[in-house]
Amino acid sequence: MQPLNQKSMKSKTAKYIFVTGGVTSSLGKGIVASSLGMLLQARGYSVTIQKLDPYLNVDPGTLNPYEHGECYVTEDGAETDLDLGHYERYLNSPTSQANSVTTGRIYQTVIEKERRGDYLGKTVQIVPHITNEIKRRIKLLGSSGKYDIIITEIGGTVGDIESLPYIESVRQMIWDLGENNTMVIHLTLIPYLAASGELKTKPTQHSVRLLMESGIRADVLVTRTEHTLPKEVKEKLALFCNVKKGHVIESKDADSIYEVPFLLHEQDFDEVVLNRLNLPTDQKPDLTAWENFLDRHKNPKNSVEIALVGKYTALPDSYKSISEAFTHAGAQTETEVKIRWVYSGDLTTENIDSVLKGVDGVLIAPGFGDRGIDGKILAANYARRNKIPTFGICLGLQMMVIEFARNVLGLEDADTTEINNMTQHPVINLMEGQKNITHKGGTMRLGNWKCQIDKNSAVYKAYGEEMIEERHRHRYEFNNEYLEAFEKENFMAVGTNPDTALVEIMEYKELPFYMGVQFHPEYKSTVANPHPLFVQFVGAVLMYKQNKKIHATR
Ligand code: GLN
Repeated sequence: MQPLNQKSMKSKTAKYIFVTGGVTSSLGKGIVASSLGMLLQARGYSVTIQKLDPYLNVDPGTLNPYEHGECYVTEDGAETDLDLGHYERYLNSPTSQANSVTTGRIYQTVIEKERRGDYLGKTVQIVPHITNEIKRRIKLLGSSGKYDIIITEIGGTVGDIESLPYIESVRQMIWDLGENNTMVIHLTLIPYLAASGELKTKPTQHSVRLLMESGIRADVLVTRTEHTLPKEVKEKLALFCNVKKGHVIESKDADSIYEVPFLLHEQDFDEVVLNRLNLPTDQKPDLTAWENFLDRHKNPKNSVEIALVGKYTALPDSYKSISEAFTHAGAQTETEVKIRWVYSGDLTTENIDSVLKGVDGVLIAPGFGDRGIDGKILAANYARRNKIPTFGICLGLQMMVIEFARNVLGLEDADTTEINNMTQHPVINLMEGQKNITHKGGTMRLGNWKCQIDKNSAVYKAYGEEMIEERHRHRYEFNNEYLEAFEKENFMAVGTNPDTALVEIMEYKELPFYMGVQFHPEYKSTVANPHPLFVQFVGAVLMYKQNKKIHATR
């Protein structure tokens, strides 16, 4: 699929759309913001989306995925909220450090300035110093001159104590730039009371009033609902929430998040937004590529089941980019990819056969720390012995390497020094530059690094290029002292960093697909550009399943 046509307007004075949330959290502001961004982009506008997260962590890099889902990584190495992943998957354009702001980052900047003496003896306060720093970061993307429209999503819910400085900054931005250049979309929940069969508007009315108390009028309401909103309910919402008729857009639960842009477009959401911002609407959106994608996604010809072996499987959001990359690759290959979530902490030699029984592929997931490590090694062993297509990502590659060292190379106590630094055979060890690092936050090998690909490899067929760039997030690496031993047994380093010789991709030549990568290909997969390695993996999985069937019927 070709990247979406991003024909940009000449005037680059950016307009700002703020997306706030009310009533409850987890309403899917990220999906609504991404859908809107995609629709505006399909109309020829250049758009970017930014997330403001009200927590005090400087970034989510140090957060347990159970707390906040996956940590996403941008090209320039920002460790961000998983919503940035949605932005990239929908817009097919990279985000950056500037697209991700947290309260921790804001305070860190203000406090550093205070320590330098930049405030010249003034009392440093939330208003104006914190709010000014928030505004500076919002305007940063606009002043780059690259975008017509900046969509800024405010994390959390209106009324939260942590959100107050952000809401005040939005009010000031509207005051500074004028109503012509700014607008507010408020996303709320319309609960349905099954007992009385009613859709209730009151929580939304209260949440809009709460915004009003901070001096902000919602321009458009997007309402999450399980049931279609009757016309009267929409009109009631418009009247009591003081928005124009036609400015109440329903966002009904959809089967796929990729349907949401269409559901919103059918209600003229993009048109309403452009009219409100006084931007031309004559160019209708070209949604053919998305329609094709959705059609293939919803009507697959084949189906496969892949075991995702990881330690955070109780919360699938911890592997958001991986499951979305499977959706993209599945659509490309017209294959439904079902994921069997396998908690690696429970895997044993006794149960592995029944737990992985019948799967057509195995993905060994990224991760940190020792919990569930043995299960990943077991899964790698099981998959290799049974010739099941296997894809290891980051820690997943490292576990494939350890398994191979122990069981093929006979290095019994081979290990990663992340888990056992007394091992005789540190086949995975700490990267040189990591040895003196004491702070955990933001200090891994992060973001884009080059990888040179061997032309005689399966990965080369996938990429069709000799030099690629992929995003990283790790401290440990393959220990090149062991490379010769691995390569003698046909487990080859087919991708390496051209400057440091760090191993990036390993491929076991004895099997049709047994590959591990040190980087995270999942971060780069988008609707418009499914990641070639995921496409290749799903293709191999499909082939394996079809061969299984042939053997079974013989
Ligand atoms: N814990 C491993 C490392 O730091 C792998 C990290 C990952 O899977 N993202 O190298």
